[in-house]
Amino acid sequence: MQNKNLSSLSELANGLSSILIANRGEIASRVTRTCKKMGIRSIAVFSEADRNAPFVQEADVAVFIGESSPAASYLDQDKIIEVAKKTGADAIHPGYGFLSENVEFAKRCEAENIVFIGPNPEAIDAMGSKSKAKTLMQEHDVPVVPGYQGDDQSIKTLSKAAEKIGFPVLLKATAGGGGKGMRIVNKKKDLSSAIEAAKREAINAFGDDELIIEKYIASGRHIEFQIFGDKHGNAIHILERECTIQRRYQKIIEESPSPVLDDALRQKMGQAAVKAAKALKYDNAGTVEFIFDDKTKDFYFLEVNTRLQVEHPVTEEITGLDLVQMQIESAQGLPLAIQQEDIQGNGYAIECRLYAEDAFNDFLPVTGTVQRFEIPEVEGLRVETAVQSGSTISVFYDPMIAKLIVWDKSRQAAHRKMQYVLNHLVCLGTTTNQDFLSLVLNNEGFQQGNYDTHFIDKHIDLDGISAVAPENINFACIAATLTDWSLRNNLRHLLRSIPSGWRSNFYDFQKETYLHKEEETVVQYRYNNALNKQHGFMFEIAEQAYNIRLIKTNKELIRLEIDGIQHTFNIVKSGQDYFMQNAQTGSLHIEQKERFPAKATEVIKGGYEAPMPSQIVKILVKPGQKVKSGEGLIVLSSMKMENTIEASEDGIVEEIYTEAGANVEAGFLLLKII
Ligand code: ADP
Ligand code: ADP
Ligand code: MG
Repeated sequence: MQNKNLSSLSELANGLSSILIANRGEIASRVTRTCKKMGIRSIAVFSEADRNAPFVQEADVAVFIGESSPAASYLDQDKIIEVAKKTGADAIHPGYGFLSENVEFAKRCEAENIVFIGPNPEAIDAMGSKSKAKTLMQEHDVPVVPGYQGDDQSIKTLSKAAEKIGFPVLLKATAGGGGKGMRIVNKKKDLSSAIEAAKREAINAFGDDELIIEKYIASGRHIEFQIFGDKHGNAIHILERECTIQRRYQKIIEESPSPVLDDALRQKMGQAAVKAAKALKYDNAGTVEFIFDDKTKDFYFLEVNTRLQVEHPVTEEITGLDLVQMQIESAQGLPLAIQQEDIQGNGYAIECRLYAEDAFNDFLPVTGTVQRFEIPEVEGLRVETAVQSGSTISVFYDPMIAKLIVWDKSRQAAHRKMQYVLNHLVCLGTTTNQDFLSLVLNNEGFQQGNYDTHFIDKHIDLDGISAVAPENINFACIAATLTDWSLRNNLRHLLRSIPSGWRSNFYDFQKETYLHKEEETVVQYRYNNALNKQHGFMFEIAEQAYNIRLIKTNKELIRLEIDGIQHTFNIVKSGQDYFMQNAQTGSLHIEQKERFPAKATEVIKGGYEAPMPSQIVKILVKPGQKVKSGEGLIVLSSMKMENTIEASEDGIVEEIYTEAGANVEAGFLLLKII
């Protein structure tokens, strides 16, 4: 923790006394927490979808600002400034995403005499374009990935540049971010079509088709440095974060220290990061991202994120610093309270991003309700979350449910602890990536720190079924069956003395079928006896027999003795779906197969359905139009992800059943091609 001396305290007293938080979810909660700690009034703004969210209730003041779509609320600069003025906010904290890296907004705050809690607008502007950023860094002697970033954007010049760089190359949208608008090109013959496609994508996503080209570092690690500056020309780095575990260029797990940096390398990279900060006259929290070549140990500047980073808690856990407090202090003009020499890492921290998404179905985000959210009590565990039991995950925002951060003395101990947390966290009611995160934590390569950015594609078996021990699935099926049995049994008011399932023939088996990721498990069971008022059962699953005693059950959990060993299962049942968590099995989702399945919904020939609940961004075709296989038809947006539905064969658009701006459910018929 920082040592606050008297002078900084008195400056603080004259400084900021209320902060509007122009964001939502966990980061809004995070900022509010530091405001409270510092005695600063916190003002939340919220959209329709967030009216009941925890972050709204936590703030001292909460003001409704509009409809759920970000453009109508969290991105509406006029409204946010208006609320700031009305509520007497001295400052605005933009969190990450939304307006956090918006130069125009930062300038407007300044013009309205509201402190923008972030770096100066010039620094944001300089880093807003990947090409300007690289040029500036080159000028200041920060190593950048060899490549081309120039005004001449003709296909001819770009192609020549790519050949000179040497394949594979990476095409990036100059205005890109969030892992979007990148394309690897391996061979010369794919180049011109890739450039055209990348330009098209870039103009659609960012309104600007300028590209840069980089040498593609095939075996690269993403290692970034936290930087910090003040308004007095001081700049430091606060160590690194290893963020190599990604998919689609998006981080999933972050840790610090990096398992591959020694002190010499850390110092060298840290110095480069500080050089970058000084080049920008950087005066708040930021992150310098590097790509690190595993083979040569060379590192290259990628970009500066001019905001607080999602994974900032990792740094806080190993340094004891409060980065939000430091942001607030820097913004009000206080000099940095620490020097480079004071920065010392202590122990290891790791963060996992818990998402509402189906890792086993191409990581599609899912909506739904987190019916139960319970955090296990583990020393050194910190959970930053946007939800509580009963919270809904809507289509309007990104699907992050929580960030789980653990600290321990050694990397091994921190990993072990995280594994324990993933097995014990109760987050039930919707599909999450909890079991997927467990798979990564369990992987030996990951544990040894031996990986690159392709780790998940190369080493994690997403066919999944083999990943869950059959016994765990059997246990889940038993727990689901007996949960239902108990419900039925409790309803038997009339024949209380005869347990449910009691048939004329006492030894008749009953049968249930469950699905786990499309794999069927058939369960046979019969009531056995009651001992001390506890019901006993015999189960048979694929030749395996289990002797079960029902110890206790209530709405939320069931405790069973399975062959002499007791287990507790937390269960949420939603229709045919059972979401459960158990210390041995971790989190598991199984589905009961209906005995008399409803007639499968008719597949409409030539019909295109929404793959997930989404908002229609753009319709690219008209009825009567001829389309070719692969041509884009409709652009959907769901949870920060844009998705283009493409024609699967040549044909003519017969009818379109939706319009731009509409919200549709998964499975909604969008259009038909004949
Ligand atoms: P980071 O680089 O901080 O780890 P990501 O790479 O995950 O963040 O995020 C990519 C982009 O999406 C960034 O611009 C980030 O600010 C934004 N973003 C991430 N999560 C959210 C969120 N929950 N709400 C709004 N924007 C977000
Ligand atoms: P964004 O603004 O979308 O975050 P970045 O330039 O930070 O874009 O890159 C995002 C990710 O893409 C990196 O974390 C890394 O995994 C990968 N990447 C970027 N540039 C390269 C490169 N030249 N070679 C290999 N991988 C790269
Ligand atoms: Mg990046």
